[in-house]
Amino acid sequence: MEELKDYIRNIPDFPKPGIQFKDVTTLFQDQTGFKKCLDYLQAQFKDQKIDKIAGIESRGFVLGAALADRLGCGLVLIRKKGKLPGETISVTYELEYGTDELEVHQDALKSGERVLIVDDLLATGGTLLAAAQLVEKLGGNIVGLSVVIELLGLNGRKKLKDYPVFKLIEYDEA
Ligand code: AMP
Repeated sequence: MEELKDYIRNIPDFPKPGIQFKDVTTLFQDQTGFKKCLDYLQAQFKDQKIDKIAGIESRGFVLGAALADRLGCGLVLIRKKGKLPGETISVTYELEYGTDELEVHQDALKSGERVLIVDDLLATGGTLLAAAQLVEKLGGNIVGLSVVIELLGLNGRKKLKDYPVFKLIEYDEA
C-alpha cells in the first residue's frame, strides 16, 4: 500500500503557509495508481454489506463513485452548502477559522441503510464527523469512515472514536 505515496504530490504552503497539501489529483490521473488505490479499497470492504457510499465533496466523489461501482452499491453526495437542488438537511462544523456547512438531500437514504462514508484525507476529523452526523440524521447505519490518507499529527481519529476509521496510508505530519 505504501507505493500509493509515489503517486501523491505534496504541495507545501497550500492553501496557506505551513500546510503540507497532499494532492491526490496526481493519483487520480495515473491509471495504474488509481486502479491500485481502488483495488485496496475494494479489498477492505468487499465482505461488508454496504447499501450506499456517501462521498464528501469533492475528492470523495471521485473515490466514492468508482468504489460504489466496484462494490455494487448506490452513491450519495455530501456537498458544501447551497449546491444540492432538492430539500436538504445540513450540519455546521468548526474550521480552524470560522465554520462551514455540509448538506445532503433528505431523501438520499432510507432509514436503516448501511452507509460507508468516503473522503480522500483525514486531518482534524471535523469534515468526516459532520458527514457522519448527516448520515445518522437520515437514519443511516454507519459501516465506517474511509480515507486514502490519514495525517496522524492532527489526532482526527480521536474525534471519530465512535466509528470504525479505515485508511490506506498515513503520514506522521500534521
Ligand atoms: P479535516 O476536516 O480537518 O479532517 O479535513 C479534511 C478535509 O480537508 C478533506 O476533505 C481533505 O480533502 C481536506 N484537507 C485537509 N487537510 C489537507 C491536506 N493537508 N492535504 C489535502 N487535503 C486536506
